[in-house]
Amino acid sequence: MNPEINSLPADVDLLIIGAGPAGLTAAQYGARANLNVLVLEQLAPGGQVLMIDVLENYPGNVEIHDTEGNVIAGPRTGFDFAGDMHRQAETFGASFISETVSGLVKEKEMFTAVLAGGGKYNAPAVVIATGAAHRCLDIPGEKEFSGRGVSYCATCDGAFFKNKKILVIGGGDAACDEAQYLSRLSSQVTVVHRRDRFRAQPALARRVMNNKNIEVRFNTVIKEIKGEQKVSSVLLEHDGKTYEESADAVFIFAGTIPQSSLVSGGSLQAVLDESGCIVTDQKMAASVPGLFAAGDVRSGAFRQVVVAAGEGAVAAHSAAEYLDALRGTAYQ
Ligand code: NAP
Repeated sequence: MNPEINSLPADVDLLIIGAGPAGLTAAQYGARANLNVLVLEQLAPGGQVLMIDVLENYPGNVEIHDTEGNVIAGPRTGFDFAGDMHRQAETFGASFISETVSGLVKEKEMFTAVLAGGGKYNAPAVVIATGAAHRCLDIPGEKEFSGRGVSYCATCDGAFFKNKKILVIGGGDAACDEAQYLSRLSSQVTVVHRRDRFRAQPALARRVMNNKNIEVRFNTVIKEIKGEQKVSSVLLEHDGKTYEESADAVFIFAGTIPQSSLVSGGSLQAVLDESGCIVTDQKMAASVPGLFAAGDVRSGAFRQVVVAAGEGAVAAHSAAEYLDALRGTAYQ
């Protein structure tokens, strides 16, 4: 670490904001590159991975059999996977602090992350790996019954609705994945999608279509969620006709919103695309020197755990190169 890059002293070489797969991998690679790395995460390390039941499409995360063909391990859950990534980054020397970053500014060559709970950290390079949050439908009843039948995470809340009537809203990978998961808890799962086919990857969509515990309703829109203390019914619209149907739970997977506010709207302005994702080059460098982005918050990202991890590795490597150039220690 070189504290004399400019007038502000650096606390660490590399600040990573967000500890999903992108941030955790950046932390590991940054620490292995001998950088002093600090990760700031407002929730538990793992991000959205914590909500994945079985991380079945991460390369190598498969069932392991003994010589007789018995399953002896794997595939690991998202929760276990996230825990291992976290431990691995710590093993290589990255530090973690559980804090919400409320602001990010840059003065000369130094970034300062301002914490919501008070305090700040300075670093000459930052990786934004803040990911994306779930999108709400903004229909009547959604907010009122959130936590009382309305949920955005099947692995978190599914167990409350064993053998109950469950509606899943959305037609993407998340809706299909989570409907599959819920179909193991209840034989009364209905997926409601506003279009005439799924947006999800064909393999996921096919599994949902062939699942006897799942009914699929295309061209159907949810208009309202109703109940007293908890969800008891929904209003659905199909072919211009509205009808009411009983339901115990509504799981909503209507896409995600990139968490890029730290680098937009304030004094630090990075170039964003039309959906609010941070635009980077192939080295994950954003438009502000020293600022890198990786994972779901990055423009053009293929939103997969394996991609987020890969982008995190690239971002950390690029940050190390940037710091070498800044300090005049680059290997020529
Ligand atoms: P997504 O792919 O954007 O799908 C969101 C779905 O919600 C779409 O089908 C969309 O309908 C629907 N929707 C949006 N607003 C709606 C509204 N107001 N009313 C009704 N329906 C609405 O989002 P996602 O499924 O959350 O996935 C996010 C990213 O993570 C994707 O890139 C996905 O590939 C990735 N992901 C991957 C996996 C996996 O690989 N297993 C699992 C989960 C997520 P339209 O289709 O009509 O737009």
